[in-house]
Amino acid sequence: MNNNRREFLKKGLLGVSATALIPGVIKGSPVASSIAAAPADLPSRVLGRTGIKAPLISLGASGAINRDFIKGAYNSGIKLFFSATYYGEGNNEIIVGEALKELPRDSFVVATAVPCNELDNRTGMLNDKFSARAYMEKAEGSLRRFGLDHIDIILFPYAAKRETVCNEDILRTMEQLRQQGKVRFTGIASHNGTEEALDAAVSTGIYDIAMISYNFRIENREALDAAIARATASGMAIVAMKTTAGVFRNKSGPGINSDAALKWALQNVNISTIVSGMTTSEQIQKNLAMIRNLKMTEEEMSDLKTALAFSDTGLFCQQCGQCLSQCPASLDIPTIMRGYMYAYGYRNLRQARNTLAAAGLETGSCADCTSCIVKCRSGFDVRAKIQDIKRLTEVPEDLLLS
Ligand code: SF4
Ligand code: SF4
Repeated sequence: MNNNRREFLKKGLLGVSATALIPGVIKGSPVASSIAAAPADLPSRVLGRTGIKAPLISLGASGAINRDFIKGAYNSGIKLFFSATYYGEGNNEIIVGEALKELPRDSFVVATAVPCNELDNRTGMLNDKFSARAYMEKAEGSLRRFGLDHIDIILFPYAAKRETVCNEDILRTMEQLRQQGKVRFTGIASHNGTEEALDAAVSTGIYDIAMISYNFRIENREALDAAIARATASGMAIVAMKTTAGVFRNKSGPGINSDAALKWALQNVNISTIVSGMTTSEQIQKNLAMIRNLKMTEEEMSDLKTALAFSDTGLFCQQCGQCLSQCPASLDIPTIMRGYMYAYGYRNLRQARNTLAAAGLETGSCADCTSCIVKCRSGFDVRAKIQDIKRLTEVPEDLLLS
């Protein structure tokens, strides 16, 4: 999108001058200010033009099923809490909101990912059933579940394609949410096609934040780092997820040195904070201790080198999409592989099952093939992983522990 297009969007969508896009200046929007409560003794970075100053570690709340745990995280110094409408079918937003709502509203930040059902993860494109009104209602549902006066950050997840990131209905909805004071800042989340998604987000001038997969296993690091640098130069903030690259090298271990993996990501000063799916207070204390000294030790460097030397990428799927055109059944293999990682890496069975459901995995999947013709660039035995993980689709919901 060229500058004229960007200006048209700003003026056309808002009916006001482009300067009104500066967060906190929009009439009716909550005043933007730094989150003053970022503890002084915790290393923090500013999230781009949002002005939010946050500790280098934030909570990905997908596995947080307990209000006391979230409150404890806050008391320990965590100030950013990331949820999603699809975590616990919305219950996660309720739990996060209930845990935080008695606290000073300017002392924490809640973010949530609001997806479109009409987005095809395989292509990254919206189908023609997409409706701006339905997307607005979905976002409003998140706000109701949090029970807060506003959501700080709303993310459009699974962003990959320029056409989708720049979709005018989505941009208009994002701006309406902001103008109505329902959200303060908007952003994207991306697992694949991230360079394209970042450049597209920058070109709109609408998105403030991008949450992206970023870890030592990423294959296209040079191009990704360049796209990250372009985004931060434009004022966007980059938040890193999937930083432990699947947690384990394979489903029965050994584990990846998490301090080393998280420190590696934070060596890039363009990463404002890491979203970590912590579920115990021990993990929180460990990560908070880690961010106090980002210098990597020889042992940590060596651990990452050892993990990289492993024959495949372990539980971490690069989300490159090269398998999609190979499978005659058009299975959404990258999403299924993410579900596999959630199950065996994060041990989050609910998130795993929801991810598998989103991919359309059924017990009969792969049954028509006598052998698998998919050649994964990372060396995954795709069929074996699918046969393994599809058992989860048969487990009754109430038996899932996490
Ligand atoms: S080819 Fe392999 S690494 Fe790439 S998306 Fe498919 S499963 Fe993942
Ligand atoms: S066995 Fe391989 S080719 Fe056949 S449906 Fe499964 S993933 Fe696709």
